[in-house]
Order: sequence, then structure tokens, then C-alpha cells
Amino acid sequence: MNPLDDIPRGTEVLLHICCAPDAAYGVRSLRDRFDVAGFFYNPNIHPREEFRKRLLSTLDLQEKVPFPLLVGNGGEAAWEDAARGMEDEPERGRRCEACVRMRLRETARKAVELGMPAFGTVLTVSPKKDAAMVNRVGREEGARTGVRFAEADLKKGNGTLESVRISKELGLYRQRYCGCRYSFR
Ligand code: SF4
Repeated sequence: MNPLDDIPRGTEVLLHICCAPDAAYGVRSLRDRFDVAGFFYNPNIHPREEFRKRLLSTLDLQEKVPFPLLVGNGGEAAWEDAARGMEDEPERGRRCEACVRMRLRETARKAVELGMPAFGTVLTVSPKKDAAMVNRVGREEGARTGVRFAEADLKKGNGTLESVRISKELGLYRQRYCGCRYSFR
């Protein structure tokens, strides 16, 4: 059974966006069911120029689709704290869980602030992300804050290939590494 079936159609969902290519497929996929607003919040991205490219590309997508989009600021120092001591962890390891958690925690907090009953993320479009971990963290942060987490594995059903296809079609910037300085290295 699809866990999204547990959330009534038309529910307002604040959808965490990490980058335009993942959002290109993720927003399209979830807005078939829900009233989706995007939330770009990524204090993990290094260097600043790369952050700017990913944000501008997401704004470009928003104009072309279009969909409501909020941009979260700050959190860089908190991200450094969360990653400290885990610099040499491999991708999909403990550092990535902490990184996903802080971004989903802020998305859940923002959903509460906006009076939205649910939140989600497009992170699972990427084949490099452990969807089981992302969904567990989402459920935990949802339980902590009292908002529903829209659990999904968006790479299923050709989600990854679709995100590449749509990105090319729309001329979106596609990054070559996950985001933080350790993945850049
Ligand atoms: S590799 Fe990606 S998910 Fe992991 S800590 Fe770095 S930016 Fe976050």
C-alpha cells in the first residue's frame, strides 16, 4: 500500500526542496494528490556560489512550472555543529542522517508556523539517498512537531530518470555532488 494514501487528497503539504532537478519531478508527482508549496532550505550547501546556483535554478523552475515557493535562510552554524565529528563518514552514513534531520526538522517547524498539516521532501528522488532513512527521519520529526510526514520513495516508477528528463527539457542547472564540503571533496 502507498503510505501517501493515508493522507487525504488536497491536504496542504510543505515540501522540502534540495535542488531544482529533484523538485522538477517531486513537485509534479505530489501535486497530483496534494496542495503543495515548496520550501528551499539547505544550509549544508558549500560553497556559497553553489548555494546560489541551486537556489536560482529552483526559482527558475518555480517560474516555469509554477508553484508557491518559500526560501529558508540561516542554519549554517547549526549545520556545522550537526556534522562535527562526522567529517569522514561516507555518504548515506551518520552525517547524512544528521543533515537530513536538520533540514526536515526545519521544514516541519515551518509547516507548523504556516498552519500546514503535513510536510514532505523531494530528497528521495536521488538514487544516492537512502529512502528508508529519509522516511524514518521524516516520521520522527513529524511526530515531534505534530505534523504528518508525506512518506514516499520518489525514485520509484522512474522518478530519477524523469527528473533528469524534465531538467534537461527546462534547461535547469544539475549539480555534480550532493552538497556539503565533504561530498565536494
Ligand atoms: S553528503 Fe549530502 S546528505 Fe550527506 S551530509 Fe553532505 S550534503 Fe548532507
